[in-house]
Amino acid sequence: SGKLFVGGNWKMNCSKKQADEIIAMLVKGPLSKNAEIVIAPPALYLEYVKSKAPAGVDVAAQNCYKEASGAFTGEISPAMIKDIGVEWVILGHSERRAIFKEDDALIGAKVKHALSAGLKVIACVGETLQERESNKTEEVVFRQTKAIAENITTWENVVLAYEPVWAIGTGKTASPEQAQEVHLKLREFLKKDFNKDLRIIYGGSVTGKNCKELSAQKDVDGFLVGGASLKPEFIEIINARG
Ligand code: 13P
Repeated sequence: SGKLFVGGNWKMNCSKKQADEIIAMLVKGPLSKNAEIVIAPPALYLEYVKSKAPAGVDVAAQNCYKEASGAFTGEISPAMIKDIGVEWVILGHSERRAIFKEDDALIGAKVKHALSAGLKVIACVGETLQERESNKTEEVVFRQTKAIAENITTWENVVLAYEPVWAIGTGKTASPEQAQEVHLKLREFLKKDFNKDLRIIYGGSVTGKNCKELSAQKDVDGFLVGGASLKPEFIEIINARG
């Protein structure tokens, strides 16, 4: 179908030197023409990375608040992200949910505000190991997705990222079958607001080694890559489908 969407979530990893190294790697490429590439450095480095990123590599913030401005010490707004020329934001990442206690309602409100401010959104859902082992995967990802979908009128500017928590940073990648199963369920769950543009990407220990098989799954439209997005193998992932 469309292009392979490849997001690189740098999380809280960066320095100007490291940013320069990753950008040099992207400049060298090669970057598949069939990939849509979006890298997400920490907020402090957004403008720097945006100014140096090669053509065809977009930039995303890793989070933002649900208001345009005001007394919210430590937060950044979609308007500010737009103001420096950055077009994307990641919302609902499991680390935001688990460590910073963001709930479905807050994530929904952030998605709504970010879209209305003109940002594009990578919205994340995913179950914990305990939830999977107690057969709650579907219940959890549907609940999280519903809270996001309620705030969306068109999926054109949204990418849904399925990131099982047990696969994030653990080296325990979901098997291609496990990813495909949940992606298909999510696609069917969202059929009622069916939109041909709906893209569902997978995240959780994606590597140069496993990206080809995962990207061959019918309902896997791309990746959200953490650790490997800081390394040369990110180029392999970008070229997963050639
Ligand atoms: P890893 O690729 O390091 O498992 O992280 C995945 C992730 O959380 C991307 O947002």
